[in-house]
Amino acid sequence: MIDHITSGFAFDVLRILGIDGRGGAVVTAAMNVVSQRQERKDIVKIQDRELKPSEVDRIALIAPKATINIIRNYEVTSKKVVELPQVIRGIMKCDNPSCISNSREPVEAQFRVDQREPIRLRCYFCGHIMEREDVLKQF
Ligand SMILES: [Zn+2]
Repeated sequence: MIDHITSGFAFDVLRILGIDGRGGAVVTAAMNVVSQRQERKDIVKIQDRELKPSEVDRIALIAPKATINIIRNYEVTSKKVVELPQVIRGIMKCDNPSCISNSREPVEAQFRVDQREPIRLRCYFCGHIMEREDVLKQF
C-alpha cells in the first residue's frame, strides 16, 4: 500500500508502476481522502506487488511524503517514507537538447533538487529547470 501520496497523483503513481488495471492484480485507489492531519491525500493499494528501488525513486519525485506500507495477513509489517535525495541521478534526462548530458559524451544526467514539493529540479550541467509536469512527461 502506498499512502500519503500528494492528492491528485494516484494515477501518476500507478502509471510509474506500469499498472493499467489489465494485468489482473487487485488494485484499489482512493483520491482526495482527508488524512488524520486534515490534509488531502491519495492512497493506492496493490496486491502481490513489490516495488523496485527505481520505482520508489520516481514516486519520491512527485509524492515526497508518500509511505510504502507492506501488509501481510492484514497487518502492516513494514512502513517507510520514500526518500528524495538532494541529487537526482539516473532516472531522468535533461529537457535541454543541447545539454552535454544529451550529447554523445558519456555523461549521466544529474539534477539538484531546488524545491521538494512541487518538485523543481535544476540540471547540474546546464542549469535547465524542470518542474513537476516536465518530470511526469518522462515517466
Ligand atoms: Zn541539462
